[in-house]
Amino acid sequence: MGETRTFAAPIHVRLTPLARGLLLFAPAVLLCNAVGSLMRYPDVGAALFFLPYAVLTTALILAPRRDWVWYILVGAVAHFITHWPRWTVSWVLLADVANVARALVAAVLLRRLFDGPPRLDSVWALLVFVASAVLIAPAAGAAIGAANVVVHGASPTYWPPFRAWFMSNALTGLAVLPAFLYAASDSTRWWRVLREPQRATEAWLLTVALVATCAIAFLLPIASRWHVALPFYAPLPVLIWAALRFGTGGASLALTAVAFAAVWGADRGTGPFLAATPDGNIVVLQLFVLLTAIPVLCIAAIGSARRDAVLLYRSLLASVQDRVAILDAGGTVLEANDSWRRSTDALEGDQFNHVTVGANYLDACRVAADAGNPTAARVLPGITSVLNRLARVFEMEYNYEQTGRRQWYVMSVEALERSDGGGGAVVTLRNVTARREAQMEIEEQRLELSHLARVGVLGQLSGALAHELNQPLAAISNNVQAAARLLNRDPADVAEVNAILRDILSDDLRAAQVIQRLTALLRRGETHLQPMNASDLLEEVLQLAHAELITRRVTVQKSIAPELPLILGDRVQLQQVLLNLILNACEAMSATPQAERVLVLTAKATASRHVDVSVRDHGTGISPTLIDRLFEPFVTTKAEGLGLGLSISRTIVAAHGGRLWAENNPDGGATLHCVLAPAP
Ligand code: ADP
Repeated sequence: MGETRTFAAPIHVRLTPLARGLLLFAPAVLLCNAVGSLMRYPDVGAALFFLPYAVLTTALILAPRRDWVWYILVGAVAHFITHWPRWTVSWVLLADVANVARALVAAVLLRRLFDGPPRLDSVWALLVFVASAVLIAPAAGAAIGAANVVVHGASPTYWPPFRAWFMSNALTGLAVLPAFLYAASDSTRWWRVLREPQRATEAWLLTVALVATCAIAFLLPIASRWHVALPFYAPLPVLIWAALRFGTGGASLALTAVAFAAVWGADRGTGPFLAATPDGNIVVLQLFVLLTAIPVLCIAAIGSARRDAVLLYRSLLASVQDRVAILDAGGTVLEANDSWRRSTDALEGDQFNHVTVGANYLDACRVAADAGNPTAARVLPGITSVLNRLARVFEMEYNYEQTGRRQWYVMSVEALERSDGGGGAVVTLRNVTARREAQMEIEEQRLELSHLARVGVLGQLSGALAHELNQPLAAISNNVQAAARLLNRDPADVAEVNAILRDILSDDLRAAQVIQRLTALLRRGETHLQPMNASDLLEEVLQLAHAELITRRVTVQKSIAPELPLILGDRVQLQQVLLNLILNACEAMSATPQAERVLVLTAKATASRHVDVSVRDHGTGISPTLIDRLFEPFVTTKAEGLGLGLSISRTIVAAHGGRLWAENNPDGGATLHCVLAPAP
């Protein structure tokens, strides 16, 4: 026979958020009404604390607006059940209107002013909260509540019931509402905190201390000489503890406990609130709670803001890839981020950065500098000047070899102002190896390209250069033949042969100079900056272009201002730029009548003591369609041009910290300006 098994399917009741909310809200609001009615002013009917205000406001703040009507209805019914038939129907209903109006005003204001449930983590937030939930909303409720009391003949005047209603709700708003809001909106965080053993132990200890101090203050009969100080101040340290360690939520819960203990004490005939009539006692009690709550919540708000700031700063530090350490005025490392801590293990050539939190950075630099570490020797004076407030920032780049690869770092040390007036510095080490390598690669390519362009320019010059070389070579050959003839005579004309040999030497020198200039330009070398004279530079370029200028029948006019500042640059690269400008100018003047083929080379100082070397021609000028794109690569109007000359020239000039631009002359032709930085 087969075995029959029956499985009882679990019944899942899926509750809507509204149903779940109401299931929690209904018993809570009933309980709060019951507690409220226990703590009533005997004369005016307002409660000492009116907890339904806190519970209804919390519900309205957290629930979607469309569900509000349900919470208001349930709240009103709970209130009705609690007070009817002890009070007349009209009294209860009007009191209901006052309660709903108060909670609505508070919820609308708080939802509008805070984005989400209010978080009292700054003094400003606390002020906004107090204005809305402790002043405006309770005043609105009290206006209706007091009218109700007067209308029903329970009080002949308006202000005493107004004050009583206002005080009870203001107090509830201040001492209880934050706890309700935190408990309802942040309960998961509370449970998480309480699951951490350390925090849970602290919370328990705090509760014990709170119970003990409340008992001492309000519940035990104490000798009268202690009466002034003990009741009021015994719970205060515990409240501050709650505020600082558990924030506004914890402080608010602790305040609620203190308030209830005070009420309980007054009810039992112990504690300090026994002096006057029952109503008078309640006012004193309310004032006590109010005056205690304000500073305690302020401390909580400031504490939260500080904790947030510390958390923010810690996570910011942790997220930074660079290595960051914070030093005090004496150079001791106060704090370092994870990156810094991790890197202390990984560094080989950077020993002085092996400084852990608590150690002294300056000492480490000193030791490393004494041991011959050149980087540490550079860092030491820089960092000392920042710590001594002689400089705000110190920055330097250094590199060292690590596992066969050169690593580049930028160190920046920035002065730190501390709130206690003390100084210090933030040291940041950024690994810029990748950037450096990319820069070096770009520089390498730039050099390569400009070398190719130079070779191209020399290609343009080759015809004229061959001609220029031919002259001395032909002269040498003629002179050698002449010398041979003279030597064959009898007697040989030694004096004449000597003169010929001198000519040969000078021709050889001329040819050698041409070749020397050429090889200098053909060589592909590193950039080598040196101070130089603009006039010498122009002279060298003119010698290079000499044959070309003659072939093209171009006349050169030079105008060099006296006492020009020296410029700083790579001689070969600047020769290349000017040669390019001169050749372009010559080509632009191909169609110019020979008499007007004049090239004007000017060198003058600018207002900022830079040197403006300009090349002015009387050629075609630059066409307006081209002038904006002239320095872009591959822009050319020549059949065999590459269009790279000007773009490479501009890159070279920019790398020298200068500027290259072109303009058309009003009287025809173009001028190219090359402004170069002076040597320091
Ligand atoms: P390429 O000489 O190979 O054309 P360049 O970059 O040196 O490359 O010059 C680009 C273009 O700029 C030239 O083709 C020419 O049209 C124009 N240009 C340069 N210099 C002058 C000048 N002095 N007058 C008129 N046009 C010029």
